[in-house]
Order: sequence, then structure tokens, then C-alpha cells
Amino acid sequence: MPASSLRLDLHNHTSFSADGLMSPAVLLSVAKVKGVHCLAVTDHNTVRGALEAVALAEADLTLPRVIPGIELATEVGEIIGLYVWEDIPSGLPLLEAVTRIRARAVSSTCPTRTICSGVVPFPGEPERSQPSSPTSSK
Ligand SMILES: [Zn+2]
Repeated sequence: MPASSLRLDLHNHTSFSADGLMSPAVLLSVAKVKGVHCLAVTDHNTVRGALEAVALAEADLTLPRVIPGIELATEVGEIIGLYVWEDIPSGLPLLEAVTRIRARAVSSTCPTRTICSGVVPFPGEPERSQPSSPTSSK
């Protein structure tokens, strides 16, 4: 499948978040109907919904692939962490939260690796170069 035809949704909540209405199973079913190939489950301050969604997707390969994640409250606001498989305490200073997310981000066993490879950067992969912005010559 060419990367340009992949449909990703990298910020989703389940009923494990106070503002999430759908169970992980319902979220995956809705995403499947909408043609999403891969989604990140990023509940507020917990990976429990993400881990349930990963288990559901692993048991049913017709469902979208799942990136486990978290939307973590820090002292300065919320940040999204992807490939996070363990809970991280909320309310940390931003740098500490980022450090912990990076330490917990493991992609080697991520079931989305084959479908998302080349589209979503994985922890440990070299940074991709960004297109250079046009520069004016005077
Ligand atoms: Zn959110």
C-alpha cells in the first residue's frame, strides 16, 4: 500500500478518558467503517484504553492497527506520546514528561510497525530531513 493512501488518526480517546464516549472496541469499529488504517489511542493520563485496543486489533486483523499512546498532563499543558506502553504520572514538568515518554516508547514490538513504517517516525529512527523552505536571494 503506498504511504499516500494510508489513513491515520493519531489522537483518539476512549471511555478510559473522562471526555471519551466510546469503548476501545467501538472506537476501532467506527475507525474501520471510516476507512482508517491505523490509529493512535491517546487517552488522558493512561494507556489502559490503548492497551485494550492493541489487544483487540491483534485478535482481529481486519481492525485498524493501533499505536498505543497517551495524552499526558504536564505542568504546562498536555502532550501526546506515541508508542507508550506504560502509564506515566501526570503533572510532571514538561522536560521530565518528555524524557519519560521517550524512555517508554518502544516500537520494536509495535504491531503497527509494518503498516505505518515510513509514514510515522518510530522511536530510535533517524530524523527525516524536512523540505527546505524557499529562501529569497537579494
Ligand atoms: Zn485529547
